[in-house]
Amino acid sequence: MAPSQPPADRRNFRVAIICALPREADAVTLLFDQFWDEVRDPYGRADGDTNTYITGRIGDHNIVLAVLPNMGTNSAAAATASLRSSYVGLRLALLVGICGGVPYIGGSHAFLGDVVVSKSITQYDYGRLYPGHFAVKNTVEDSLARANRDIRGLLAVFETELMRERLQAEASGHLNHLQKVARDKRRRANYRYPGTTEDRLYSSDHVHKHWDSCDLCADGSGAFCEAASKASCADTKCGSADLVVREHHARDDDFRPEIYIGRIGSGNTVMKSGEERDQIAAQHNLIAFEMEGAGAWDEVPCIVVKGLCDYADSHKNKAWQDFAAATAASVAKAILGRYAAHDGDRASNQPNDQRPLSGRSVANNSFGNNTLINQGDVGGNLTY
Ligand SMILES: [Zn+2]
Ligand SMILES: [Zn+2]
Repeated sequence: MAPSQPPADRRNFRVAIICALPREADAVTLLFDQFWDEVRDPYGRADGDTNTYITGRIGDHNIVLAVLPNMGTNSAAAATASLRSSYVGLRLALLVGICGGVPYIGGSHAFLGDVVVSKSITQYDYGRLYPGHFAVKNTVEDSLARANRDIRGLLAVFETELMRERLQAEASGHLNHLQKVARDKRRRANYRYPGTTEDRLYSSDHVHKHWDSCDLCADGSGAFCEAASKASCADTKCGSADLVVREHHARDDDFRPEIYIGRIGSGNTVMKSGEERDQIAAQHNLIAFEMEGAGAWDEVPCIVVKGLCDYADSHKNKAWQDFAAATAASVAKAILGRYAAHDGDRASNQPNDQRPLSGRSVANNSFGNNTLINQGDVGGNLTY
């Protein structure tokens, strides 16, 4: 039975959701079943923590939702360390939002609105630059240990066909609910499926630029002007001859996000080159690119759950961001529905007998066998 009473204090929260952007958090909050902070914030925060939180319940789980102040892995690491200092009982964090997708995953086409789930994370831009060759010094999964046993078990189940079907069906139900609630609340964000004809993948060597009447874009370097970077592909006249022809899995009136589980690339810069995307994805076996996972993983065992809003190439636009945020939030809720609450979690109006913990002891007690960097390592530094 789901808890209907707010937990007594912060120690009773086991699950955090972290969003990098307000628009990502907006989608997530539409799927909360209850809020605990409707009238006032009953939980506060630890000394030195500058994050602001939203608290409530999704299904059986009390949830603390944090929105990062800035994008990037370092910001994510610092904010997540603060989150952990305030919420010492956390066992799982979901990093929920939007990302750039790799268009071919495991031999099939991935489409905008599909959702990637991290089995591991590679910080692909952390390493040494050699002439003509960038060597990634290490992968997060190597340096920070694998996801803890709890998370590994959860993800292993999702890799079965049966559970992925269930997850997809549950996520589709949550997506329909989210869209309805957003309409009822007259939210400004539009969570409707933009349509298969709006989902355009250009061949990776086709760059986004003004293809007519622009001297800056026509200089042959492949660079494009500031105005082109803000213009849509229709306005820049990106050629339809360079579109990749694909058979879409969706109908416009029935989009069910495909869910891909694999290794996600995390970096401090936005990936916006089709050729670089393909090269780095092939080199590290990546299914998507995002900017916070490595930093958050540094501090809390987390699962990245992100919706594809573009193909990490130069043809970026914002048209898919709200919908991708909505599909990610829906899959996140479906995952939480399958994440078993621990004994004692549900009796959330009772303080548990866990003593307040701090520093490394928090990591050891709360996160089982996962090896974590201690509080002194805040700032995203990976240690080897
Ligand atoms: Zn131009
Ligand atoms: Zn374009």
